[in-house]
Amino acid sequence: MYPINTICDVVKGKPLQLFSDVEITELVYDSRKVQSPASALFFALKTSHGNGHLFLQDAYKTGIRNFIVEEDVDLMLLPESNVIRVESSLDALQQLAIFHRSHFHVPVIGITGSNGKTIVKEWLFQLLDDEYNIVRSPKSYNSQIGVPLSVWQMADAHTLAIFEAGISQPGEMAGLERIIQPSIGVLTNIGEAHSEGFSTLQQKLSEKLNLFTNSEVLILEEKNAAGISLPAKLFTWGSSENATLKVVSIEKRGGKTSIHLQFSGSGFQVTIPFTDGASVQNAITCCCVLLYLNIDIDRIKERFSQLHAVDMRLHFVHGINHCTIINDSYSADLTSLYIALNFLAQQSAAQKRTVILSDFVESGKSDEILYKNIARAFEKFGVKRVIGIGKHIGEVLPRYLKGEIQAQFYLSTDNFVQHFRTSSFLDEVILVKGARIFAFERIALLLQQKVHQTVLEINLNAIVNNLKQYQQIVKPGTKLMAMVKAFAYGSGGAEIASVLQYNNVAYLGVAYTDEGADLRKEGISLPIMVMNADETSLPSIVDYNLQPVIYSFEQLHLFEQYIKDQGLSAWPVHLEVETGMNRLGFAVSDMPEVGAYLAKSPYLKIVSMFSHLAASEDFAQDAFTALQAGRYQEAVQEVKKHISYSFIQHIANSAAIVRHPDLQFDMVRLGIGLYGVENETHRLHLQPVATLRTTIAQLKTVKKGETVSYNRRGEVKEDAIIATVRIGYADGYSRRLSNGKGKMWVNGHLAPVIGTICMDMTMIDVTGIPNVKEGDEVIVFGKELPVQQVAEWMGTIPYEVMTSVSQRVKRVYFQE
Ligand SMILES: *Cc1c(COP(=O)(O)O)cnc(C)c1O
Repeated sequence: MYPINTICDVVKGKPLQLFSDVEITELVYDSRKVQSPASALFFALKTSHGNGHLFLQDAYKTGIRNFIVEEDVDLMLLPESNVIRVESSLDALQQLAIFHRSHFHVPVIGITGSNGKTIVKEWLFQLLDDEYNIVRSPKSYNSQIGVPLSVWQMADAHTLAIFEAGISQPGEMAGLERIIQPSIGVLTNIGEAHSEGFSTLQQKLSEKLNLFTNSEVLILEEKNAAGISLPAKLFTWGSSENATLKVVSIEKRGGKTSIHLQFSGSGFQVTIPFTDGASVQNAITCCCVLLYLNIDIDRIKERFSQLHAVDMRLHFVHGINHCTIINDSYSADLTSLYIALNFLAQQSAAQKRTVILSDFVESGKSDEILYKNIARAFEKFGVKRVIGIGKHIGEVLPRYLKGEIQAQFYLSTDNFVQHFRTSSFLDEVILVKGARIFAFERIALLLQQKVHQTVLEINLNAIVNNLKQYQQIVKPGTKLMAMVKAFAYGSGGAEIASVLQYNNVAYLGVAYTDEGADLRKEGISLPIMVMNADETSLPSIVDYNLQPVIYSFEQLHLFEQYIKDQGLSAWPVHLEVETGMNRLGFAVSDMPEVGAYLAKSPYLKIVSMFSHLAASEDFAQDAFTALQAGRYQEAVQEVKKHISYSFIQHIANSAAIVRHPDLQFDMVRLGIGLYGVENETHRLHLQPVATLRTTIAQLKTVKKGETVSYNRRGEVKEDAIIATVRIGYADGYSRRLSNGKGKMWVNGHLAPVIGTICMDMTMIDVTGIPNVKEGDEVIVFGKELPVQQVAEWMGTIPYEVMTSVSQRVKRVYFQE
């Protein structure tokens, strides 16, 4: 779009090296997400999450040749590139977006508020898609980085833009205003005062209003409009006579809400297929925007009845014949396709990649250009099989698909469903992505396994967040080994390992050889340490390129012999030293002998030497921890006397990383913290990763004096309403939680277990909890009910609760 020279002027940069005058079309700050590297400009950003300058080489490797930096860089490492130095890369990105924005004069809707921004944006898109050619923020791109990237997408063909703005600290909104320059302002719900770093509601509101200083109109709820002084005209909604759009009444019936409204003296009614309060508020806000844009009332009514839920999360589930299904049957545009393909590539190191895609609807681009770009994206992300559904895709896409991609086309979803055979899908990761009218959820359902309705939901963003929290407190240069033993503490092996591999951890740790072999079969290529490799598993260690821990002389000799017999040499091994845990490891006094022996062996090579702390989380045991560390260092010195090469030293587990930073050494072994569980100190901002949910199978009224469940332990003291839920001890819900010890989260309330827990079912007392229905969701643990609490009721630790969730409970993974 702009020559690099122009960009250099716009950002007031100093060219450190100018190689050629490329036309820049794409802006990136994460080199893994680049689409067209040759014309991309990489911004090396410094944020609380990391430093982009550390990834310049990676970016260069992907083919990027244009860079904006704010630190000194070694130009020798970036030959034949354009490199521009600025004061602040983030500021440069924002200046460029402001420059780009200045070329467009179409209406721009700017949305902010505490809740509902993304929903309102997506709903406005659904409601106005026929009338306008719309550009909008992808996903929830509303930050200091996300907003400039959103605005950069504006092109001549667009007739309306919708962008959201969010801030994490006071003072940021004015900057976003300059980038978005909304002509139409929308303020959604303003949440609690104390959230988002504000002390009063007034302070928060006035900060948010900075987005609208130059808007022609501001749409908002009337209760927020009091005392606002802005040049903008106010378009308010509410129940008073003064509101621009008067809400006369709201009626909920049969899963729908009818909203009676009055505008400019005439009354009308819209019906939406939702009943929750937030949806009603968001719908009314959208209605104001449509009225302001002069959309006909009949049209508004029709559009609102078709509104559908917005689920911005990408998630995957296990499907038929070892397939993994990524269900994104909601939007069909290029940006969201790239996001989904990126997710597909990240989740499928070994499986074949398949995409089921509908006709694409993106006005302003010809079918030819659109499908050519799609075909190119398929190549880039290694898609091997494409199933196209719709008239256009079948006509145009085949012209651009490379021969090695297997392709099939169907005219309609019905057509596909009629021809569907389970056996035609095997060992694939399938991205199901289509425009709403194609109703691809029917296809997703066919591909998914049917299991009972108890699921363990895994939040992959939370894993990444937790990892970053620890990366920030680990000293620079210290490596991180992620412990993924026991199916990553119950969360799922390969799925979690893929995310960790993508996010640059150095090592993985598992307990047994089979766990490591499974990760390799799923395409994990990181080095894997196996803590407990017995004699029978040695062939697998070698076949799957795993690194065993050596903890005894017997094992040392066996393994050395095996490597020798295979004609191999210098196989990587880890030495474990016993310092006080008294589980596995050589004694400190064995070390001189071990060192001397390994110094002479051409067959084995020490990659690392470690020990395990017994009580690093316990303040009362700090002296013991120090003793263990001392013994460990003594052992290391003994080995070093014999071994001339260097090896990695590590002793810290999750708690030690935080509580004993001086013990981080060369590497740390992160376990429980990665899954969002921290001991009481709560020094990091961890997010729970796993949520165990189930549903209510039946509700019954049980009279006073009756009993519930086996052995009649659950006495009903007053007439009660009892819910039977679909989880039992065979799912990992321990019998120790019977008779009131355990509680579950139902509709915002805790409901105690009544009676004995059965193998597949549990009864809970929901008396007095409003609006409980059969089929309702029940949370066993998760954000609302921390796993630590359930562990306490059970008389154990979170590790046991998490790893006990049985494999029959389906794991569902999602990414926001
Ligand atoms: C499980 C394990 C860890 C991780 O411990 P957390 O307390 O979960 O962080 C580290 N090292 C070894 C040897 C382990 O077995």
